[in-house]
Amino acid sequence: MTSTSPKSPARFWVKFWGVRGSVPAPGPDTVRYGGNTSCIEVRCGEERFVLDGGTGVRPLGDSLRGAEAARITFLMTHLHLDHVQGFPFFAPFLVPGYHFDLYSALHNGAGLEDVLSQLLSQPAFPISLDMFAADLTFRELQVGGTLDFGALRIRTTLLNHPGGVVGYRFEFGERSYVHCSDWEHPLDGSLDPVLVNFIQGADLLSIDAMYTEAEYLGRSGSSRKGWGHATHDAAIRHAEAAGVRQTLLFHHDPARTDAELDAIAATQLVGRPAIRFVREGEAFDL
Ligand SMILES: [Zn+2]
Ligand SMILES: [Zn+2]
Repeated sequence: MTSTSPKSPARFWVKFWGVRGSVPAPGPDTVRYGGNTSCIEVRCGEERFVLDGGTGVRPLGDSLRGAEAARITFLMTHLHLDHVQGFPFFAPFLVPGYHFDLYSALHNGAGLEDVLSQLLSQPAFPISLDMFAADLTFRELQVGGTLDFGALRIRTTLLNHPGGVVGYRFEFGERSYVHCSDWEHPLDGSLDPVLVNFIQGADLLSIDAMYTEAEYLGRSGSSRKGWGHATHDAAIRHAEAAGVRQTLLFHHDPARTDAELDAIAATQLVGRPAIRFVREGEAFDL
């Protein structure tokens, strides 16, 4: 697996446009790992996908400028603010000729269309959803089911997070990429059997790893138990138990500086070349 750009239609390629959790964190202390919130681009042959619309979706949209109008499928993990807040600034929504299919699971009867209608309304924002010139089709995701795109199969599962969250597993021929964020591990330190089964043997995994053990247990500030996110240690244990080939720790705490991420890596990731903190802008060819 190498960091590179897409070259041929058969490529299976993943790019991270936003890796930060909760709220954007720009500034000199986060410039290397990045400050944009969740957004991942996935290309499988001719098919193009985007996981979530955090603020990373704005530069992703700008990268499409001048490109041939395309059909792109958005797959939402859930509808928390850090996963939708970039949509109002996703420029291709204003361009006729683009087609977007947007899948989200319903939460208390509300899906992405309802959330965007609220975000894009006066007095919070001057543009409303019906002013977009692109073709947007909102679709309800059946969690636990699969989406088939020719040779590509995308499996879904429900994971542990306040209000629920969807994990996605892309299976393209013999290759697989799994995204599981936002997710919290079992409180008793045991393995989450749903997660271990879902990520089993993946070639590439991006997984929630937001807190240190001290933060999670309340030895550094208030306890983060029940907040819906995993510790670095829990993410590593689950990835290793499932035999994942390469693991990218994701959804970095907004207060975590580059130096702190490096320091954690220097202790917890020593001897683990297949596990690291993912950086904004990194791309992976499977
Ligand atoms: Zn989040
Ligand atoms: Zn969340």
